Amino acid sequence: MAAEKLQKRLFGTNGVRGIVGKDMTPDLVLSIGLALGSMRKGRIAVGRDSRTSGESLANAVKAGLMAAGCNVVDCGMLPTPALQYLVMHHFDGGAMITASHNPPEYNGVKIIEPDGTEMGDEQTVLLEERIFSRDFDVQSWEHVGSGTTASQRVDEYTDAIIRSVPENIGRDMSVVVDPGCGAASFTTPKILTGLGCRVFSINAQVDGHFPGRLPEPSLDGLKGLTDLVRSTGSAFGVAHDGDADRAVFVDENGRFIEENQEFALVADYICKERCGIVVTPVSSSLLVETMVKKHGGTVVYTPVGSIYVARTMRDLIEKGENVVFGGEGNGGLIFPAHQFCRDGGMTATMMVAILARSDLPLSRLIDQLPVFHMIKEKIHTAHPERLIEHLADSCKTYHIDRTDGLRITKGDTWALVRPSGTEPFVRISIESALADSARQFYHELMDYISQVIKSE
Ligand code: MG
Repeated sequence: MAAEKLQKRLFGTNGVRGIVGKDMTPDLVLSIGLALGSMRKGRIAVGRDSRTSGESLANAVKAGLMAAGCNVVDCGMLPTPALQYLVMHHFDGGAMITASHNPPEYNGVKIIEPDGTEMGDEQTVLLEERIFSRDFDVQSWEHVGSGTTASQRVDEYTDAIIRSVPENIGRDMSVVVDPGCGAASFTTPKILTGLGCRVFSINAQVDGHFPGRLPEPSLDGLKGLTDLVRSTGSAFGVAHDGDADRAVFVDENGRFIEENQEFALVADYICKERCGIVVTPVSSSLLVETMVKKHGGTVVYTPVGSIYVARTMRDLIEKGENVVFGGEGNGGLIFPAHQFCRDGGMTATMMVAILARSDLPLSRLIDQLPVFHMIKEKIHTAHPERLIEHLADSCKTYHIDRTDGLRITKGDTWALVRPSGTEPFVRISIESALADSARQFYHELMDYISQVIKSE
């Protein structure tokens, strides 16, 4: 399933991001609005996460879109998946002002296509060309677009998630939510309450200074969540990144659940009910494939990036394939019956559904999963591509996959080597069910790598 990644100059895998006032300016965002409005006509929805710069940049993108003739509907502050859901059902496109998990000084723009997916590489390259050549379809006075607001429409998204599972599925279950002062402060507590759960929350006041923890829901920031889970006797705690397309969990003892385990647990639950294809990037743990195969399902691998996963899922379904689930090993999970994008609120709902059906607490469900050992390392090199080609040559007797970077499979051990898109280093991960095998393969690869580094 090799999808060639086109060279983009401005946009990364998840939109364009930068430091506010430095490389992320109203000027740039106005240009993005003008370019998008020149490519996509009709009604465009705009949303933002809780960053201090959100309102200013949302106004800039709206100005560009309206000047290009689009009728803009400002949906206010909401999670990225909520805007994607609204666009899929009601709009001709969308622009989300967000920097996802990045620190408070960052912001950015993510473009949403009419089907609710993020804009793909081909269209993004065309959008960038318009920005750089200032090729904008600016309208005269009688064709300038209108602007309206619709901040209550986010309720459609929360209601749809609540309706996607049996009524009151979370009754008798206590849960804790940590939206990190991000956009899900408005949505995930409401969703979980709607499922019948008793909901406790922390960092659930919207605040672009992110006083409780950084927008990235990493272990160091989740002490408040884990303490509250323990003191309230809750079944689990869930935390989101700033725009809530991702969800991570702690179990009833406050133990952080590694995101590949989270993915595997949900895959196990879904495939048990309905076996089929699960789509994920080549970077995901073999644990996921193991759980899917246990139920007779298959895994389709894509390049790294949720957009590739989402679009592959959609394309396979259009071809009549039975795609049941997809996602990344970072807490970004995609439920195709709901929509083709990562959705943190839906992921939290799925955890309620899993535990409602289980006689065991979350910690036991996690402990039952097979164990895999992963080694990760970042290697500095002036020539990432040369290093990767040398490794491919050194490992040519093993199975080589070029879906993204270089994936080498040696028996039951695999390694993925990928260049950084912007900096002089490669990332390498090696995984095996046996810790010794992973370590041995790591040393073998490092021997090959040191030959290249020495010759630099
Ligand atoms: Mg995000």
